[in-house]
Amino acid sequence: MYDVDELIEKLARRTGRPREELIERVRELRDRWGISEEGAALALAAELGVDLMEANEEERKPVTLDRAISEGLKSFDAEFVVVRAPEVIETQSGGRMATAVIADETRSAALVAFNEAVERLRELEEGDVVRGENLRLTAFRGSPQVVVERDTSLRVIDEHEDPEGLIERTTSELRHGEYVRVRGIVVSEPTDTGERVHFWLSDEEGSARVNAWGDAAERALELEYGQGAVVEGWVSTRGGTPVINVLRTHGLVKPAEVSVRPAIKRRVRELKEGDVAEISGVVVAVYARRRYYEACPRCGRAVRDGECPEHGPVEPERRPVLNLVVDDGTGTVRVAFFGDLAVDLAGCESPKEYLEAEEETLRERLLGANVSVVVRVRGEGVVEDYDAVALRGQTLDDEDLKREASLLLRELEGEERA
Ligand SMILES: [Zn+2]
Repeated sequence: MYDVDELIEKLARRTGRPREELIERVRELRDRWGISEEGAALALAAELGVDLMEANEEERKPVTLDRAISEGLKSFDAEFVVVRAPEVIETQSGGRMATAVIADETRSAALVAFNEAVERLRELEEGDVVRGENLRLTAFRGSPQVVVERDTSLRVIDEHEDPEGLIERTTSELRHGEYVRVRGIVVSEPTDTGERVHFWLSDEEGSARVNAWGDAAERALELEYGQGAVVEGWVSTRGGTPVINVLRTHGLVKPAEVSVRPAIKRRVRELKEGDVAEISGVVVAVYARRRYYEACPRCGRAVRDGECPEHGPVEPERRPVLNLVVDDGTGTVRVAFFGDLAVDLAGCESPKEYLEAEEETLRERLLGANVSVVVRVRGEGVVEDYDAVALRGQTLDDEDLKREASLLLRELEGEERA
């Protein structure tokens, strides 16, 4: 039943005695009593006061979710908290799949079960502290999943008082594959691509893009620029930008009182690649000659050779685009406005009106205008200092300007004092 070498290894670890000494003593016992080596090892364990069962338990000590996932353990035991109760869906192949959100102090993860195992997962409730044995690990689209198999046991051993606290993160703490809850300020107008709604959320540490599907998409569309919000969903960090995906099953988007002050107001000279920033300045160039691009009608992405990178062959539609250069006195940014952002900034009522407007009319309206834009910086510009995509844009009237000027004045005074 026990491997002698393994047992001696355990005894050495538990007692701190050298292996050679233990092997020697096992042989002595074997010879003296005329018993098997295995029996002698067990006798020695008893003599040294090592509880074999306990020693065995120690080998099967639960690991943290972070360790199981980062080391890619194939089978493991873990203690975790159920943060979001299991939701069951039908799979495309006609089976059933349950997914719960679990977490410990180190990270959160998806706990999934298929078909007959679904029932066992369904018994779990939010706040349950669970001891799971023989858990497995797989990946779905590059995100880790903890899987309940036939031989997995799930035992509720306690209640947790604050399961939500285990998934609260700031935008700088977002890790691929985690389920998180983030509080922040909506810094772009939510945009509906027809398939999903996306917007940007900022807190004191940075910004994340939020993609929402289903009911959550409806909720997201109701949010307004500058509003506080709580978002819950699965993180993906492909392409360098953290994205919180609010799926049809788990996830949440809702307005909330938020005390964080996102530090997104920036001067151009302070920008760096990847920043989400709000810039106030003057439009010094308007490129309105080429005013549309061929877009996928489902997701709005550029269509090349009749194909959308996500949806394959599609009949493209003309979507408005407008390129401006904004100068705030410290530098210049070339900003690309897409879709309604372009139409609205140009003062047009519809995409049609925008696409048909005289180039000269648009230039007259915008050149020299004071604007406030929220942008995501793509990188350094070819001619301008930076190249960016607009998340929001607004021309400022005299009242806005007075407010901006007084803010700036106060800031300058502060700098002089410093
Ligand atoms: Zn598409």
